Order: sequence, then structure tokens, then C-alpha cells
Amino acid sequence: MPLNTAYIALGSNLGDRLGQMQTALDRLAEASIEVHVVSPVYENRAMGMGEAEPFLNAVAGVRTSLQPLALLELCLEVESGLGRVRSAHWAPRTVDLDILDYAELELKTTRLHLPHQRIEERDFVLYPLRAIAPDLRIRGQRVADLAARLPMDALTRHAFSLHLPNV
Ligand code: ATP
Ligand code: CA
Ligand code: CA
Repeated sequence: MPLNTAYIALGSNLGDRLGQMQTALDRLAEASIEVHVVSPVYENRAMGMGEAEPFLNAVAGVRTSLQPLALLELCLEVESGLGRVRSAHWAPRTVDLDILDYAELELKTTRLHLPHQRIEERDFVLYPLRAIAPDLRIRGQRVADLAARLPMDALTRHAFSLHLPNV
């Protein structure tokens, strides 16, 4: 089976944020996803979240033989396994996994939009993504160029990092 490269954004603003992000990576690896690189972790003082904890955000580079929808299914399973409850849109979550890009494929279905629709406006996605994939193209634009255009707003480098799963 050919392997495709994808980039998955991880976010958490509830509970043991870093621990849950690490567990999510480990679960992906257990499901035969080859996690080959992880970005530094950023802390984002999310706006519009009232009293919620700030988000931690990171991006992982993976290789997989799963097709895009199967990868999405797996991400949603890992989220539920970590106790994510879908309540209000953008409510606090134990872990959020978004597929940012899958082999630079462009896809628009009701369930899956590739590349992820809101990459260009999100410093908390572009900064970690630039750290591992500066030359990746999102809708024709290099990630490094997109990040350079967007100043870091409420974002700082977090003191702790994720590690590659031990498989
Ligand atoms: P945002 O997409 O703005 O970051 P969110 O992550 O909070 O918001 P969710 O409630 O986690 O949104 O996801 C809603 C739905 O988005 C998912 O059930 C999934 O079907 C759909 N979706 C579309 N494109 C993607 C993608 N590239 N990665 C993950 N989910 C996607
Ligand atoms: Ca998201
Ligand atoms: Ca999501």
C-alpha cells in the first residue's frame, strides 16, 4: 500500500492537556499511523472561550496508507476515546484532531474539507506547521509565507514538548 504524508493538528484546553495530546499521538501510532515528526507545543490564549483554559496546540507529520476519510474516522475515534464530548461548537475539549493536509489533495465533502478550511487565519496552526513543513503548499501558498504574513497574536512557545510514539 502506498504511504501518503499528512499533517494533523492537535489541540487541547481541558484536563491534562499535554498528556492527552501525547496519548492521542500514541493511539495514532498504535493504529499503524507512522508519526515521524512533531512540532514544538504552543500555548494559545484562545479568544471567545470565556473562562476556559488556554489551548495547547501542536502539529504532527504522519505517513499512512489510510485514505483521507478513514484517517478522519480514526481521528474522531481517538478524540472520543480520550473523552471528548461534542457539545457547543468550540467548547472546551480534551483533544481536537484536525487533518490540515493530506498529500496536498484538494477535497470538499460534507464530512471532510482538505486542506483544512481555516489554516490561513490561524497562527496556532501555521507556527507549529511551519516548524515541521515550511515548504508544504496550502491552496498554492507555502506555509512559511503564510506564517510570515500572520503575526503571532496570543501565542507563546510552551515549556514542554511532545515526543514521537515508541512503537
Ligand atoms: P475547526 O474545524 O474550526 O477547527 P472544530 O475542530 O472545533 O472546528 P469539530 O467539532 O472538531 O470542529 O469538527 C466538526 C467536523 O468537521 C468533523 O466532524 C469533521 O467531519 C469536519 N471536518 C471537515 N474537514 C475536516 C478536517 N480537515 N479535519 C477534521 N475534521 C474536519
Ligand atoms: Ca479544530
Ligand atoms: Ca476538529
